[in-house]
Amino acid sequence: MLKPEALQEIIKVLGQDNVLTEKVDLMTYAYDATAALKRVLPEVVITPSTTEQVAEIVKIANKYSVPIYPRGSGTNLSGGTVPVESGIVMSMLNMNQILEVDAENLTAWVQPGVIIQDLNDAAMEHGLFYPPDPGTVTTATMGGSVSESSGGLRGLKYGVTKQYVMGMKLVRGNGDIIKWGGKTVKNVSGYDLTALFTGAEGTLGIITEILVKLSPTPEAKKSILGVFDDIDKAGSAISAIIRNKVIPATLEIMDNMTIRTVENYAHAGLPVDAQAILLCEVDGYKEAVEREATLVEKILAEEGATEVKLAKDDKERDQIWLARRNALPALAQLKPTTVLEDATVPRSKIPAMIKAIRQIAEKYDLTIGTFGHAGDGNLHPTILTDARNSEEMERVEKAVAEIFDVAISLGGTLSGEHGIGMAKAKFLPLEFGEAGVNLLRDIKKALDPNFILNPGKMVRRD
Ligand SMILES: Cc1cc2nc3c(=O)[nH]c(=O)nc-3n(C[C@H](O)[C@H](O)[C@H](O)COP(=O)(O)OP(=O)(O)OC[C@H]3O[C@@H](n4cnc5c(N)ncnc54)[C@H](O)[C@@H]3O)c2cc1C
Repeated sequence: MLKPEALQEIIKVLGQDNVLTEKVDLMTYAYDATAALKRVLPEVVITPSTTEQVAEIVKIANKYSVPIYPRGSGTNLSGGTVPVESGIVMSMLNMNQILEVDAENLTAWVQPGVIIQDLNDAAMEHGLFYPPDPGTVTTATMGGSVSESSGGLRGLKYGVTKQYVMGMKLVRGNGDIIKWGGKTVKNVSGYDLTALFTGAEGTLGIITEILVKLSPTPEAKKSILGVFDDIDKAGSAISAIIRNKVIPATLEIMDNMTIRTVENYAHAGLPVDAQAILLCEVDGYKEAVEREATLVEKILAEEGATEVKLAKDDKERDQIWLARRNALPALAQLKPTTVLEDATVPRSKIPAMIKAIRQIAEKYDLTIGTFGHAGDGNLHPTILTDARNSEEMERVEKAVAEIFDVAISLGGTLSGEHGIGMAKAKFLPLEFGEAGVNLLRDIKKALDPNFILNPGKMVRRD
């Protein structure tokens, strides 16, 4: 319970306007984008505006042993912002300034509440862009996406968030403020704190400023669609593209269930009998893009595509990506609850993974559509269900556990981009073993001994 004197101290630091205690507000902040979780209401929701305020609040939280749940836009899919033990939800949305875009050093300093697309818009004025592009690029924050090390469609060529963070300012679990990193390409001073805190899901510190790397905007783009009557052929086409030294900016796959659902929903002209489609985009200098697009067309045909379509103009390009953009909304409208996973395997194992997901769907009599980032092996098996049906939810839980088992046995990981949070914490021993989980817990204990920061996520107290 938050003591009245603790609340008074919080109000003294932030002012009454930045402290919400009405039930309707508390209920709103008990949710994020994750389906079917046990959740408790926070006792207070706060919106600090400065690093110093964040540090003061962390000190108060330690003094009164109250947990803090840092929050960006709440779009995460692993229960990362949902309170487990009640306490304080700290929304970072007031800290939303782009502090600097440095076109000479290809970097930007931002506050954590900046929306990713806003950084892109600012970078675009300098002919630059910020490559990490989760599907929520227009709503998710820099702080949330750095804390999840979010990926997206461009992972294969450009990498994910962790490849772009060069430094940060952060409030530790004890309230200390630390700033490290810099604009130098090379920096090996001390332990790699940037790597440790990127993807830490708010469990080790609260990020209040971030230094990221920017890239020059590519001159040209071309999109190609390949249709397959066999998932193995689609799988070997993915490998063949890479083997031929083409690294597409984006290489996506959709299975038959997803294709049919999207077509029914968005009428994008998709072949509903296809077992899989590959959607590919190459980008770079105009001449290189022409050559690469022609090569991809040739490879897809050689690997047995029944149809290959190269978008001739922006309209046709948009039509191809309309299908992919609609994959999740189309699947989600089939049933009330959407359980979106992100089991990830080496790309050569994609056909095996998709087939296993199909078998699991049959075994548990569930509707599962699969799409995802084929180029980096990051699949999104999407289970359509109804959280009100407890018998079906038990089958969903078993199916999810089996999907993780298969992913790990194929040399993959529990999560390619959505994080562990509260939803996948119990599966971590599968990937790390008990000794590995103990190491994660020891790191947490060393940096946040009182388990003030986002407790109940990633690792438990004991
Ligand atoms: C429709 C849909 C599509 C999506 N597509 C993708 C995708 O393609 N790729 C992908 O990777 N993800 C995707 N996501 C997941 C989600 O959008 C990303 O994880 C996103 O980057 C989270 O940003 P956020 O601002 O919403 O963070 P939140 O959800 O608010 O927080 C995420 C985590 O970061 C912590 N946190 C937030 N701010 C801070 C801070 N300042 N300091 C410390 N910790 C902090 C929180 O405690 C939480 O653990 C998708 C989600 C949805 C709903």
